[in-house]
Amino acid sequence: MKDLYDVLIVGGGVVGSAVARELSRYQLKIGVLEKNLDVCYETSGRNSAVVHGGFAYDTGSLKARLCVEGNRMMGDLAEELDFPFLRCGKVLVGNTPEDMETLKRTISQGEANGASGLRLIGKEELHRLVPAVVGEFAMLSEKSGILDPFQYTIALAENARANGVDYYFDHEVTAIRRLKNGGYCLSTPHGEYESRWVVNAAGLGCKTISDMLGITGYRVIGSKGDYIILDKRVGHLLPMPVYPVPSNTYMGIHVTNTIDGNVIVGPNAEEVSDFRYYGVPQKNIDYLRNSASALWPHIERGNYIRNYSGILPKWVDENGVIQDFKIEIQDDIAPHAVNLVGIESPGLTAAVPIARYAIGLMKEREELKENPDFNPRRKGIVRFAGLSREEQERLIRENPDYGEIVCRCEKVTRAEILQAIHNPLGVDTMAGIKYRTRAMMGRCQGGYCQMRVEQMLEEELGRRPEEVLYARKGSNLLMGTAR
Ligand SMILES: Cc1cc2nc3c(=O)[nH]c(=O)nc-3n(C[C@H](O)[C@H](O)[C@H](O)COP(=O)(O)OP(=O)(O)OC[C@H]3O[C@@H](n4cnc5c(N)ncnc54)[C@H](O)[C@@H]3O)c2cc1C
Repeated sequence: MKDLYDVLIVGGGVVGSAVARELSRYQLKIGVLEKNLDVCYETSGRNSAVVHGGFAYDTGSLKARLCVEGNRMMGDLAEELDFPFLRCGKVLVGNTPEDMETLKRTISQGEANGASGLRLIGKEELHRLVPAVVGEFAMLSEKSGILDPFQYTIALAENARANGVDYYFDHEVTAIRRLKNGGYCLSTPHGEYESRWVVNAAGLGCKTISDMLGITGYRVIGSKGDYIILDKRVGHLLPMPVYPVPSNTYMGIHVTNTIDGNVIVGPNAEEVSDFRYYGVPQKNIDYLRNSASALWPHIERGNYIRNYSGILPKWVDENGVIQDFKIEIQDDIAPHAVNLVGIESPGLTAAVPIARYAIGLMKEREELKENPDFNPRRKGIVRFAGLSREEQERLIRENPDYGEIVCRCEKVTRAEILQAIHNPLGVDTMAGIKYRTRAMMGRCQGGYCQMRVEQMLEEELGRRPEEVLYARKGSNLLMGTAR
């Protein structure tokens, strides 16, 4: 039996890590049980990375309220936690009278939700803001933005860790049992953990954990979206995300600028039951290109550098109608268990308000004492590539490891990779280095630097070559020595 926790959080994605960070404001012993080897291997690292304005959700819904709150606080959060965020705005582009009506309704709904900075713009202004777009008019959302979803999730987790939260990777929760003392015992392949409170922040695993808590009956479907990542060469043609006019349930295939200057194209929306398959078929790539080219005709195969996909956990009713976020405590069935179900989009934008809402439910049942030592600030790894020539020279003088470029595409230095290898969460995979530094994320996708990063992991952590993992268990990069 391991330590007794006040709160154990199942899932260390952006929501679980936001809950962990926000809970560390209080005097509580907190742990996160995460089945993967890092915090953003599932939906939190597989999305459009747009900080939504909050206009697309039904008035009165938690999605609307928590999205608007998340949007408002994102600037302060980014400053406190040192992750990249850009309030660049976003346009929904229309062409027909029906599109115009939908956009007017969207603005009214957004205003009723408390979203600000929404207005219709004509063709001239649209083409001044996004010269390379095709369309007659648009709705501009001035407060929408983009962020780095990896850095954001890692920042929340690292800040939680610095404030005393324990992270356990490779700890899949396989069973939950009620204890006589009212607490819970959570089984993992590495033993059992006891806690007074449990928070279900398991993303795609939300129904499984909810069932384990005894809260049964939820129907959660997967909606898979594929993306194409384009080279930075075309980044200057897209200063803000460009969306089509949305339907009631789907935002449509859009083109989005990323915080590092790439462009992503997607997602489609395919209902799936396999929550582990992230492959992107060629037919979907072609479909994305054809659909998005009507909005932004600069999607050329020569600029494709990678594909990825993500799966949204959508809670639906018996008729298949998509429901709001569910954030609940069912005192009669599972007291002291906060159950989060169907945290689909805008879960990235709303993660911290979701966490605060969940903690609010706990506070209705138990007094939480403030942690006087809580430090809201966290410092990330300085990006050498983003510095001025003078700042780069100063860093190299102070530490010669900044003078050695390991990833040539993204200009990532040895000093940054060393900091990433010795990260506060103890993550030791290649993908962990990639998400923390952008090494292997450039045009050559690691063709040049991948084995250098692998070697640094061996040297720094004392690993044998065949022990180094790409991302998941079983993803060993090397099999042994060829003689
Ligand atoms: C295609 C797509 C586009 C999106 N675009 C946007 C966007 O632009 N803006 C926006 O705001 N939102 C967007 N979202 C939504 C957003 O990404 C999610 O709402 C958010 O990442 C959910 O975070 P999470 O922590 O709940 O889930 P996850 O990141 O999936 O985290 C859950 C964690 O729980 C772990 N876990 C599961 N089961 C267990 C278990 N039994 N034991 C231990 N650990 C377990 C998983 O390994 C995982 O790490 C998008 C999502 C998708 C798929």
